[in-house]
Amino acid sequence: MSKAAIIGSGVIGGGWAARFLLNGWDVAVFDPDPQAERKIGEVLANARRALPALYDRALPAEGKLTFHTDLAEAVAGAEWIQESVPETLALKHRILPEIQQAAEPEAVIGSSTSGFKPSELNAPGTRAIVAHPFNPVYLLPLVELVGDSATCAQAADILRGIGMYPLTVRKEIDAHIADRLLEAVWREALWLVKDGIATTGEIDESIRMGFGIRWAQMGLFETYRIAGGEAGMAHFMAQFGPALSWPWTKLMDVPEFNDDLVDLIASQSDAQSGHLSIRDLERLRDDNVVGMIRALRRTGS
Ligand code: NAD
Repeated sequence: MSKAAIIGSGVIGGGWAARFLLNGWDVAVFDPDPQAERKIGEVLANARRALPALYDRALPAEGKLTFHTDLAEAVAGAEWIQESVPETLALKHRILPEIQQAAEPEAVIGSSTSGFKPSELNAPGTRAIVAHPFNPVYLLPLVELVGDSATCAQAADILRGIGMYPLTVRKEIDAHIADRLLEAVWREALWLVKDGIATTGEIDESIRMGFGIRWAQMGLFETYRIAGGEAGMAHFMAQFGPALSWPWTKLMDVPEFNDDLVDLIASQSDAQSGHLSIRDLERLRDDNVVGMIRALRRTGS
């Protein structure tokens, strides 16, 4: 039986735990939060409901889930160790050497970090790669891998075995690939709300009803290549490429992230979901994601 160790079991670590467990791995969890067991239980309930609906075949028998108060005990004998503690470099610098010391020499040590590069994460003597997943980890296939190429190749094989889609990033860069793209969208969304151009709900609808659907099924470039018609991508670029240098965007300019802006966004965004609780929203999201992954071809699952 393969074993995964999950260090930090919040939103993302809990999702990793569910992904491994429901694919037949034993999972050992280390998280000092007294609520950790309850929180994983909630993620697992979502995963047990949604993940089987993704496949026409039965999933393997679930592995064994254990909780540990000692990090080294959780890590011992694991083939995959996933660090998912909060996104603070000082904390990751404290945890990764502890993991390294307890890890088997051939184990993959992955960090869920959304933004840090392997060269920032690793102190002398540690050898973590970035294995950056997407929430909910138990459903979304993509994992961005960054770091030592042999370890990334080993990691990619393991991830494919648990129904994921590894994408190895060619060079390390802040925020990898997907969060780089998302940051640009975030930045513009912050401006649109701050300047009173659109509410959070209107921005979400502009994504959901239009380009979000296009992007889910074919991404950015292939979608636009089709828009270029018979004459193809060169024609599309000739027509629309120059517009990209017009001052449509605020480029690197980010609005001041002060209390007023946070309150404005939070009040609009919290009101947007009406009477639906976070649990209701998670179920809605999971049903939609399962339906989309099943309907779309060319996804990793
Ligand atoms: P979170 O706050 O939900 O969970 C962090 C967990 O780490 C908590 O349960 C906390 O108790 C635990 N923790 C704190 N100190 C610890 C320690 N010393 N040892 C072990 N556990 C400890 O955060 P999250 O959203 O799950 O993010 C975790 C990582 O995943 C971050 O690096 C983040 O950038 C990355 N990530 C987040 C998302 C997302 O959408 N939330 C997506 C991809 C990657």
